[in-house]
Amino acid sequence: MTRPTTASGHKGLQFEQNLIFEQNTPGATAVDLPPVPVAKQRLGEVKRHTPVGLPGMSEPEVVRHYTRLSQKNYSIDSGFYPLGSCTMKHNPRLNEKMARLPGFAEIHPFQPVSTAQGAMELIDTCAHWLLELTGMSAVAMSPAAGAHGEFCGLMCIHAAHDANGQAQRKVIIVPESAHGTNPATAALCGYTVESIPANADGRVDIAVLRAKLAEHGDTVAAVMITNPNTCGLFERECIEIADAVHAAGAFFYMDGANFNAIVGRLRIADLGVDAMHINLHKTFSTPHGGGGPGAGPTVLSAKLAPFAPVPMVVKSGEGYTVEEHAGFGVAKQALGRMKGYHGQFGVFVRALSYMMSMGADGLKQASGDAVLNANYLMARLSAELTPAFAGPCMHECVFDDRFLKGTGVTTLDIAKALIDEGFHPPTIYFPLVVHGALLIEPTETESKQALDQFVTSMLSLARKAKEGRAAEFQAAPQLSPRRRLDETKAARRPILRWTPPASDKAQQAAE
Ligand SMILES: *Cc1c(COP(=O)(O)O)cnc(C)c1O
Repeated sequence: MTRPTTASGHKGLQFEQNLIFEQNTPGATAVDLPPVPVAKQRLGEVKRHTPVGLPGMSEPEVVRHYTRLSQKNYSIDSGFYPLGSCTMKHNPRLNEKMARLPGFAEIHPFQPVSTAQGAMELIDTCAHWLLELTGMSAVAMSPAAGAHGEFCGLMCIHAAHDANGQAQRKVIIVPESAHGTNPATAALCGYTVESIPANADGRVDIAVLRAKLAEHGDTVAAVMITNPNTCGLFERECIEIADAVHAAGAFFYMDGANFNAIVGRLRIADLGVDAMHINLHKTFSTPHGGGGPGAGPTVLSAKLAPFAPVPMVVKSGEGYTVEEHAGFGVAKQALGRMKGYHGQFGVFVRALSYMMSMGADGLKQASGDAVLNANYLMARLSAELTPAFAGPCMHECVFDDRFLKGTGVTTLDIAKALIDEGFHPPTIYFPLVVHGALLIEPTETESKQALDQFVTSMLSLARKAKEGRAAEFQAAPQLSPRRRLDETKAARRPILRWTPPASDKAQQAAE
């Protein structure tokens, strides 16, 4: 049965929403203001001669427009969101309630520190938890995201080498499986990036790393390793890696974006790590769809701690003070400032609220449940899909596209067909080292029921593909308001500006 078309273009109660400019009723307004008295014209040359071009709308029309747009958002609050590497977990409402307490929400960064002692205590307590959980010496709280935290860590490494007369160290070694931010950060800091391949196991090959270190000798500044890595695997040889890196006179940077898989289970300091960012918005919950907000505090070893950026919250007998300037007091060797004010304060509130409500035992359970859920998916999906690496995995599982071989169906087709099934697709084609990758991260917040529904859909899609029903996949998604987009054109020739239709322009010219 074909689906009926409608005169309105709407589908049931799903609305085909025009741009706000296309809903213009000239003269309509949501407010009733007295006419503006004619004042003396003082703008001279810059006086506007054409209408501002704002759409005329009544209040209910404005409200409906934005409400309908908001309902088009897909979020973790509406359903399963297995986007590997992004850690889309439930954000407890308690955190939001805490972040909205007037004492936190209405505070101003220019307030004298003496009037913001509670906020300083919150930053210090949050820092304390991060140090307890990692065993590291210091933490720079101000980086605004994971990538910014990487930048902070590499800047500290840069400053430390400079201070030690080792300014010739210009190379950073990064595995090929790394998140794109790792090489990008190294390049931004002025380093040359040398990559090393993953072994068949999906992990760093220590022999290859040793050879790379030997090849570049005293020009290596640091090695950046993600653990658990982007293949969802634990780097078992971290301590050997750290020893080899230190023996070469370099620093060991660990990308800790996936800390949610190990929090409460191991001390980062015990792995020989010198610097690691923590994505508060992944491990410690904060709504972060659409690119923010986030926070990427960077924990540092004793060797790097002196170079941490300002501002630094300092606890003294009477309360808290803030060292704002590099070159003074505790910030004597600080590399400078990376961010305005104190960092993403609202995210600190949410993270601390999450940590305190979960408690040490709760955090440990969360990492365990995240790993259990991913392994459950890996085990069940292996009935039809092909895991890229032998298990067990950590918080995410990765499949390659061998199960689609000869079917004419691609990983992208599977992702599109999942939309019809009512699931946000997982991350696809990343990590790059896995052919046609499907990277699935269920997080600890999903129930077995939710995982089983996803498994049912995935297995049925895999079977359909193997039955030779490629045409159905190529047509997917069929049930969404929009079908498949020309993604290349959208990326290459985006239309970012609305221009009025010619008839409107003619009318404006006549006015
Ligand atoms: C998310 C992520 C990053 C980057 O974090 P942002 O907060 O998005 O800048 C870096 N590395 C890994 C492994 C990640 O998953």
